[in-house]
Amino acid sequence: MILDGKKTAKLQNDILKNKIAEDVKQWRQPHLAIILVGSHPASLSYIKGKLKAAESVGMKATLHHYEENVSSDEIYNKIKTLNQDNDVDGMILQLPLPKNLDEEILTKAIDASKDADGFHVMNQGLMYQGKPNIKPATPYGMTLLLEAYNIDVKGKHAVIVGRSNIVGFPIARLLMDMGATITVCHSKTKDLAYHTKQADVLVVSVGKKHLIDASMVKDGVVVLDVGINKVDQKLFGDVNYEDVYEKAYAITPVPGGVGPMTIHALLLNTYHLYENHVKIMHK
Ligand code: NDP
Repeated sequence: MILDGKKTAKLQNDILKNKIAEDVKQWRQPHLAIILVGSHPASLSYIKGKLKAAESVGMKATLHHYEENVSSDEIYNKIKTLNQDNDVDGMILQLPLPKNLDEEILTKAIDASKDADGFHVMNQGLMYQGKPNIKPATPYGMTLLLEAYNIDVKGKHAVIVGRSNIVGFPIARLLMDMGATITVCHSKTKDLAYHTKQADVLVVSVGKKHLIDASMVKDGVVVLDVGINKVDQKLFGDVNYEDVYEKAYAITPVPGGVGPMTIHALLLNTYHLYENHVKIMHK
């Protein structure tokens, strides 16, 4: 079975669009603000997708685009202004930033109440305590995709390859909350295949084209491939899709799997922040 993230995101975005259409009869539109520095082609393409998706569900989406040589102070001040702007619900600082800008300081400057990506330490802390408010978009999107295909991970062994703060580590927590038993692998893991072969659910977020092939998985595995690797203008996952497809019970394609669900989760996060801002204010 193909876990079609594009189709699922479209269906779920339509539901969100209907909710927003109802909301705007009483309140203002939800508003997502995106800060982009420089013109890296991949970042431009991600931003285009996010702006288009936000507008397609009836959100206001604004882009704050800066030249590569912008100062840290200017971006910092923009983030602070957007933090205080009551018209803005969610904010994204598109990563990676040029080397002259401090990614950590600037990411931390985004207020937890505007954290559409779900990267803020407070939101991550709440999630790790099992009380999620805003979840990191990619792991959140993956859990929604599993739910959409009625894949129950309770009692299953989930093996996660990669331990980044934005994908590997938080998806481990979310899958554990859903009842899975977890193994997390990383660059220091000895005999990666030994672990991946035990996976009922395999999540791969590394950034290495075709790191995982059919010899490294067991029959009936559910595969969520997060990796995006551009080679000769073509996109490849971390999993060799053609090779693993026959053995898998279900698998995400690249592109069209986890990526669109990440954008959907970003919109859901923005909508959730909007509810906090607008609806709760009017209660
Ligand atoms: P990071 O680069 O932050 O982390 C990579 C992880 O992979 C690290 O934990 C690293 O281990 C581990 N790793 C590296 N080499 C190996 C190896 N040979 N065997 C096992 N583990 C290894 O990755 P991200 O999670 O941010 O991103 C990974 C990929 O996913 C990228 O291609 C990125 O573009 C893509 N991505 C896609 C998204 C989407 O929406 N589809 C969203 C986010 C990312 P260690 O910690 O030991 O260094």
